[in-house]
Amino acid sequence: MINVTKSTVPPLEEYIQYLQGIWERNHFTNHGCLVNELEEKLKAYLQANHFYYVSNGTVALQLAIRALDLSGEILTTPFSYVATTASIAWEHCKPVFVDIDPETLTIDPDKLEAAITNKTQAILATHVYGNPCDVERIEQIARSHGLAVIYDAAHCFGVTYQSQPITHYGDISTLSFHATKLFHTVEGGGVVTRNDDLAHKISYLMNFGHNGPEAFFGLGINAKNSELHAAMGLCNLPRVNAVIEGRKAVSDLYDSLLLPTGLITRPRIRSGTEYNYAYYPVLFASEADLLKVKQELVKHNINTRRYFYPSLSQLDYVGNQPVPITEDIAKRVLCLPLFDSLPHEIVSEVSNIIVNTLSHVMI
Ligand SMILES: *Cc1c(COP(=O)(O)O)cnc(C)c1O
Repeated sequence: MINVTKSTVPPLEEYIQYLQGIWERNHFTNHGCLVNELEEKLKAYLQANHFYYVSNGTVALQLAIRALDLSGEILTTPFSYVATTASIAWEHCKPVFVDIDPETLTIDPDKLEAAITNKTQAILATHVYGNPCDVERIEQIARSHGLAVIYDAAHCFGVTYQSQPITHYGDISTLSFHATKLFHTVEGGGVVTRNDDLAHKISYLMNFGHNGPEAFFGLGINAKNSELHAAMGLCNLPRVNAVIEGRKAVSDLYDSLLLPTGLITRPRIRSGTEYNYAYYPVLFASEADLLKVKQELVKHNINTRRYFYPSLSQLDYVGNQPVPITEDIAKRVLCLPLFDSLPHEIVSEVSNIIVNTLSHVMI
């Protein structure tokens, strides 16, 4: 069975060497040397002022919302993974959806301003599929209305925009290092900020609020990650650039086989982006076409995923907030298998199945 993604894994012996060290030190968590080493290396890779390695990308979003002390309305995208909206609701804030731009599939800045009320405190936008939001316009709008900006950069490891890592933008950016993501530590996440006060707050929020062993800065939670997870990250990090190269080759091959047919369209990657090829989403003319293709691929043991369907505006805890563009796109978008070791014959097979299925439809 070919799945939509396949976790990168190091040679087992490499991971076992790290395990040996962990066993010798008998130090499994609480800022052990591997967590510290990974944190330093990721901070350097991301050219970040402050970087915190946490237990997953969802708690990273929750920490961001807490660190900014948000309690009111947060303008957000309905086209993302459920964790983006769920984190807002989990923190007892109100997700207010702003529809997306139909070409880039990121939050539409033209609609942001109209959604601002006196209860609006922040914007939480997703660089969906690793495609940067319109960060310049969002910053302008946020500045002129005194709003905080959080970017869910879970898809963005390795993405740069205007020659800067995409995590430079916004007050806080969050990352996910889940096993399905381009760079992973099995479970894991990250919080990036340039702001020293926010950084300090995140540093104690993620560790029970501790200020040394016997004092507390305030309320906190356990969002630490372990030495075993950090070890996987240390194995995977040196391979990231090769992984991105491999994904680019697969993605380019899909492009060359599918784009000339005119049967599908692709989201537009914002210019100025050095992309990471995290996903290969295609848009079909209709949901019926999508379902036919998906079914046909399953018959050939090829699994695709409807990232991101349904539209998050369909969640039963968000109230009725119509977002027609997202609802239309969510029904027609499908992510094709994409990972660096995906055999190029499979890419051809997937492309042929799409072309044959949709040509039948037209006859
Ligand atoms: C994966 C993902 C998350 C959640 O990350 P976890 O590490 O699985 O908690 C959040 N937002 C987006 C957009 C994601 O794709």
